[in-house]
Amino acid sequence: MGKAVKIHPAVDGGLKPAAAKFSGGSLSCKCEKKNVIVSIAGQCAHNHVCGCSKCWKPKDALFSQVAVVSRDNVTVTANAQKLKVVDPKTTIQRHACKKCGVHMYGRIENTDHPFFGLDFVHTELSNEAGWAPPEFAAFVSSIIESGGASPKNIGAVRARLVELGLAPYDCLSPPLMDAIATHTAKAAGVLR
Ligand SMILES: [Zn+2]
Ligand SMILES: [Zn+2]
Repeated sequence: MGKAVKIHPAVDGGLKPAAAKFSGGSLSCKCEKKNVIVSIAGQCAHNHVCGCSKCWKPKDALFSQVAVVSRDNVTVTANAQKLKVVDPKTTIQRHACKKCGVHMYGRIENTDHPFFGLDFVHTELSNEAGWAPPEFAAFVSSIIESGGASPKNIGAVRARLVELGLAPYDCLSPPLMDAIATHTAKAAGVLR
């Protein structure tokens, strides 16, 4: 068990610490030339590994690694013409490279959404060290649905996540679920 269970290349060797006063970095797609480059100003927040079927993950990884940043801090600085939205009907519009398929950033256009204003990014696409590491694991049971794990080994996956310090949840983490519920309650007028 333990290290035999591969979660994601960025966490399998243990979590790397965030750098103090980290100023951001550039995400690059996996093309060999004319890479799409997205520059991110400042540190990310709520980094986590995600078992859902929609987030982009590296080949053979069970989970994606995904964090949020303010959309104002996200700028496509090269080869924007290679980007296209994977599925315009989804809440999070994932802008992916048409050539290599890597998702460069996910954006919410619905101004009523609890997470409007935040973009979803994969910090592993950057060479800069010092990004805030993942804090938890989201949508863990979904890896059974996507065929990545069987009900027999999901226990070993959860145990490895705990060992890495990534508390496993089957939705988002309690602080994020509370933020969504608070937004919804305010919108409904039951909370002021
Ligand atoms: Zn590409
Ligand atoms: Zn996901």
